[in-house]
Amino acid sequence: MATIASAGASQAVLDKINNAGLLRAKGLISGEWVSAEDGRTLPVYNPATGEFLTEVPLMGERETLSAIDSAHNAFKSWSKKTCSERSKLLRRWYELILEKKEEIAQLMTLEQGKPLKEALGEVSYGAGFIELFAEEAKRTYGDIIPSPYPDRRLLVVKQPVGVVGTITPWNFPLAMITRKVAPALAAGCTVVIKPAELTPLTALAAAELSIQAGIPPGVINVVMGDAPQIGAALLESTKVRKISFTGSTQVGKKLMAGAASTVKRLSLELGGNAPCIILDDADIEVAVKGALASKYRNSGQTCVCANRVLVQDGIYDKFAEAFIQAVSGLKVGNGLEEGVTQGPLINEAAVKKVEQHVEDALSKGAMLLAGGHRHRLGAAFYEPTVLGDATEEMLIMKEEVFGPVAPLIRFKTDEDAIRIANSTEAGLAAYLFSGSISRAWRVAEALEYGMVGWNEGVISTEVAPFGGVKQSGLGREGSKYGIDEYLEMKYICIGNMLP
Ligand code: ADP
Repeated sequence: MATIASAGASQAVLDKINNAGLLRAKGLISGEWVSAEDGRTLPVYNPATGEFLTEVPLMGERETLSAIDSAHNAFKSWSKKTCSERSKLLRRWYELILEKKEEIAQLMTLEQGKPLKEALGEVSYGAGFIELFAEEAKRTYGDIIPSPYPDRRLLVVKQPVGVVGTITPWNFPLAMITRKVAPALAAGCTVVIKPAELTPLTALAAAELSIQAGIPPGVINVVMGDAPQIGAALLESTKVRKISFTGSTQVGKKLMAGAASTVKRLSLELGGNAPCIILDDADIEVAVKGALASKYRNSGQTCVCANRVLVQDGIYDKFAEAFIQAVSGLKVGNGLEEGVTQGPLINEAAVKKVEQHVEDALSKGAMLLAGGHRHRLGAAFYEPTVLGDATEEMLIMKEEVFGPVAPLIRFKTDEDAIRIANSTEAGLAAYLFSGSISRAWRVAEALEYGMVGWNEGVISTEVAPFGGVKQSGLGREGSKYGIDEYLEMKYICIGNMLP
């Protein structure tokens, strides 16, 4: 069990999680909790207080190769289990996560910073993928193809891809993992999980519960530490047949290049630059609520957060006024405190990036309508911010700010909005607010994005396909489509069928 050095505010919560058996600060290989071979460790901190929480192993190539071997061995029996056997084990895992919902959410808030209410939401959402794919495990149907030959029968069966490496970011420490691991396991694959080093504890707690659920040793392995080294080991191994990655476009491109040497399958969920279009016939209340939820959730640290708020001329002033009013109701603080809606950013580096974007926008003529500075609570906190009269030349319109800053940009016609919205290499989520079905439909169809929220700012759900177009990635996660990412099609031709 991990030793806790901090005697600060996080201690009582950590004790509770430790007592529940959910503080697992080790790697998981072949069902054993293990340290790095050379004993090296990495600290994990609470971004809200800066407190040291615990340390986890700093693993690299050797541990990753062991984890791959473990997953490869386990694949033989896991892939042979019946779909209902796999389904029952996944279902049990889902139930155990929900039973420990409070503890997992608190652990997530401690290491990631998001408000407890959002963390509880993520536990339900993350567990939801396991529930969904426990069911989808039974629906990996093949096909029987009408045969053009009298003596042959043609069929298609679906089989698991093999060992899968999953690499995930810190903004959703549970859901990004279950979104990959649940369909992989349901399909009959085994996994090597590499959680983000900033937030490994939630992943490890979930892995502990998978053991308690009876998922056999080696089916789920977890390594963390030197990300490039672990990534390279996963990419170069011929035993790993697929990588599923969520994170930055920059790292995604590296993984794509690296996957070429072994022709590995890839699912990539990369950065966004979500436009949020407010047409002049939008219901202001609905648009403000939607834009607020989309922009400030997780303190602006999601790849589907509205990054650019495009507001039509005729409604701009009214919208801006109501939006600023709504933003003033957000409460910044430690995510464990009641009523807090805005936790810290993940670290000070993230705040510095936000500051750079705001400075750049102000220097290019944006108006500061709210916030615009750090919060008195500490270096990782930034005030919810609104910028007016943003223009396309500003950095914040071109890159994801990944923080609580909403730039408002005016536009004249629907065509202008579509042009501005599509003038990016990203294509993950977009939002639009309009009271007219025909206008909104036309805009939604013209948006080069994988997902569109129409009069809705929060669209992620385990039952709908999540993913992007252009440089926002490859493949879809969640929904009935998500399991296809972990299945290969095999065509079988049966001959000599004439009586
Ligand atoms: P973010 O900016 O959200 O942290 P990253 O793409 O840097 O996005 O990180 C997402 C995940 O990718 C993390 O788990 C991180 O450790 C991992 N990662 C970063 N660099 C590499 C790499 N070269 N190879 C494999 N994984 C990497």
